[in-house]
Amino acid sequence: MARSGRKGALPVVLAALIAAVGGWLYGRHAPAPQNAKGNAGLVVASVTDGDTVVLADGRRVRYIGVNAPEISHGGKPGEPWGPEAKAWNARMVSGKGVSLKNDAEEKDRYGRTLAYLYLSDGAFVNGKMVADGYAYCLPVPPNTGRMEELLALQRAAMDAKRGMWGKFREPPGEGSYVGNPRSLRFHLPSHYPMKEGRVRFSSMREAFYAGYAPCKECLGSWASQCGL
Ligand SMILES: [Zn+2]
Repeated sequence: MARSGRKGALPVVLAALIAAVGGWLYGRHAPAPQNAKGNAGLVVASVTDGDTVVLADGRRVRYIGVNAPEISHGGKPGEPWGPEAKAWNARMVSGKGVSLKNDAEEKDRYGRTLAYLYLSDGAFVNGKMVADGYAYCLPVPPNTGRMEELLALQRAAMDAKRGMWGKFREPPGEGSYVGNPRSLRFHLPSHYPMKEGRVRFSSMREAFYAGYAPCKECLGSWASQCGL
């Protein structure tokens, strides 16, 4: 018995499924944590030199607690290590978002905003600059809240001969230096003789290591004398 079956050509209905993909949230940028003083969510528009930048909002910002050798400007020659320090600073902050923190004073006498700078990843720019040996500690009272931390970073950089400390060698000089413990500047003895209450250093390195900065008047050319 033959069984005949008839297979009907069943229409195959393909339902097109449209997957509506929506509502995906792509990694949103978290808002800056604080903006109470207009000191977060800022952008560095240009780098002036090793320790000064201009923000997109027009403010000129001088880094607190550190000093980088000068670059040439206005016909004045620059100092050794000035271009290196500027290049370091540009690599670090140029075009980047930063936030600022103040110390005791908001501005210096040139109208520049005084600040500790932080990158969005939390990196402390002033500290990193000293730690990498592209600037040295420059205490300027009353904005000295973080000098201990900065000096510790400088000492580590000196010990490891990072940045300028890798090239630094003692100048012949006068054989010793005299520090003023109030200003935290050191001098040649011919400019500032040793007396009670002053500190004698047997080398320039020792003075830097103690957190003293060179006097501009008598040691303005220290960088070239030190082989930088
Ligand atoms: Zn001096």
